[in-house]
Amino acid sequence: PKSRMAKSLFKPNFKFEDLGIGGLDDEFNRIFRRAFASRIYPPSMVEKLGVQHVKGVLLYGPPGTGKTLMARQIGKMLQAHEPIVVNGPEILNKYVGESENNIRKLFGPAEKEYKEKGDDSQLHIIIFDELDAICRQRGTKNDGTGTGDSVVNQLLSKIDGVDQLNNVLLIGMTNRKDMIDDALLRPGRLEVQIEVGLPDEAGRLQILNIHTSKIRNNGMLENDVDLLELAELTKNFSGAEIAGLVKSASSFAFNRHVKVGDSANVAPDFEDMRVKRDDFMNALNEVKPAFGVADEELV
Ligand code: ATP
Repeated sequence: PKSRMAKSLFKPNFKFEDLGIGGLDDEFNRIFRRAFASRIYPPSMVEKLGVQHVKGVLLYGPPGTGKTLMARQIGKMLQAHEPIVVNGPEILNKYVGESENNIRKLFGPAEKEYKEKGDDSQLHIIIFDELDAICRQRGTKNDGTGTGDSVVNQLLSKIDGVDQLNNVLLIGMTNRKDMIDDALLRPGRLEVQIEVGLPDEAGRLQILNIHTSKIRNNGMLENDVDLLELAELTKNFSGAEIAGLVKSASSFAFNRHVKVGDSANVAPDFEDMRVKRDDFMNALNEVKPAFGVADEELV
C-alpha cells in the first residue's frame, strides 16, 4: 500500500536536541504519539487499528511556555507546510459574517491540495492561538452580536469536515482551558488535550542552555556564570521569561561601555563585553515571573 506522506516525513538525521525546546520532552512525545505517529503509515494500516488520525489537539497552560514553539518545530520535523497561525481575537471581526469567512479561508489551502493530490498531500497545520477568545461570547445571551456563537459553530463544522481530509491538523492553544467550549473538546475534535506548564529546574537549565548557546559559542559568556545557579534562581519563570532574562543580561554587558550621555564613539573593550554573573543578577532584578509569585509570597 501507498505510504501516506511518508516520503515527506522526518528530516534525515533529526535530533530532538536540535529543536531548541527545553524541558518538554514528555509533552512533545505525547503530541507526537497522539497526533503525528499514525500519519507515517498508509491510511489502510491506520484503519486496521480501527482508528482515524487525530484531527485536533489542544495545548493549554500559562503564556510563554513553548506551546507555539513545539507546534512549529513538529511541523518542521515532519516537513509539513509552514503552519498557518491565527489568533482568536484577530479572527473576530465586527462585520457580521466576516469572522466565519476567516475561519473558512483557513482550511482553503488544505482542501485544495487534498482535492488535487489526495493522500499524497503534505500535512497542513493550523495553529489557533488564544482560542478562548472566540468561545467567550458563546452561550451568553443577548450580547448583541452573537458573533462568538456563529464563529465557534463555523469552526466546529470545519473540524467535522476534516473527516474527509487526511492532511489537516488543528492545534488550539489557550491559557484558559476552562473557557473553551465543551463542544470543541469532544472526541473527533480537539480530542487530545495536553497541559504545557511552567518548567521545573531541570527544564529551566535546558532552556538557559538553549538561550545562552549563541553567546557561549561566540566566547562571550564569562566563566563565572553558573547556569545551575540561574536555574535555581528562576523558579516560576516561563521559557519566554528565561529568554527575556538572557536578553536583559546582555543589555547590561553592552551598557558597560555605552551609557546615556556618553559620546557614541567610545572604543568598546571586547573583553569587558562578556556577559557575567553580575549581569544576570541585575537582570534578575529586572525580569520577574508573571505567574506563581503571589503564591510564593503567601508562604
Ligand atoms: P502564548 O500562550 O503566549 O502563545 P506559548 O506557550 O505559545 O505562549 P511560545 O510562543 O512558544 O509560547 O514561546 C515564546 C518564546 O519563548 C519562544 O519563541 C522561545 O524563544 C521561548 N520559549 C518558551 N518556552 C520555551 C522552551 N520550553 N524552550 C525554549 N524556549 C522557550
